[in-house]
Amino acid sequence: MGIDSKGKGLLIVLSGPSGAGKGTVCSALRKRVSETELIYSVSATTRQPRQGEVDGVNYFFKTRDEFEGMIDRGELLEWARYVDNYYGTPRRFVEEQLNQGRDVLLEIEVQGAKQVKERFPEGVFIFLLPPSLDELRSRILERGTETEETVKDRMNVAVDELEQVYHYDYVVVNDRVESACGRVRSILTAEHCKRERL
Ligand code: 5GP
Repeated sequence: MGIDSKGKGLLIVLSGPSGAGKGTVCSALRKRVSETELIYSVSATTRQPRQGEVDGVNYFFKTRDEFEGMIDRGELLEWARYVDNYYGTPRRFVEEQLNQGRDVLLEIEVQGAKQVKERFPEGVFIFLLPPSLDELRSRILERGTETEETVKDRMNVAVDELEQVYHYDYVVVNDRVESACGRVRSILTAEHCKRERL
């Protein structure tokens, strides 16, 4: 896998509201699918690292000035402000990997996904849904790293984000991580089959 008929890799965008479990599904995919099949783009952010997060693996942790410098120099494929922090995808890495025929996965929130869709309409856009709003709230709470105020902010953003579902190619309900992962992998297989005839 990894090479479509034009020799370019697929750009796969996994998005959806915070608490849908994008991070968990992404880590599970990372364990199951080798780097030769799927490359994970590491985002830049101004948010503080959570316990156990490693610079360059989970995120590139940046100061606000550093991040704004990246925006000004056009180094980001997309970026968004999300609950008082910046998040963005370093452009060069993604473009290089795609040009070498490798599939690249972006795990990003919905404003960023919208920008990617404008620049890469041929990308594969997957919306991850939580099984219910109650489940969404408990997942945000379970993380234990949010204050009451940021849980409220994240829930408010999530409800607005849910409306974006109609702009996506695929919807995956994250009832169980294993099943959600399996569905994402099936989507990749289907997209490669689709491109075989082009
Ligand atoms: P968290 O702070 O929980 O790691 O991430 C908050 C939100 O930012 C999540 O919805 C996550 O998917 C999103 N996010 C992570 N990296 C990026 C990125 O590079 N660009 C955008 N637009 N969103 C991102």
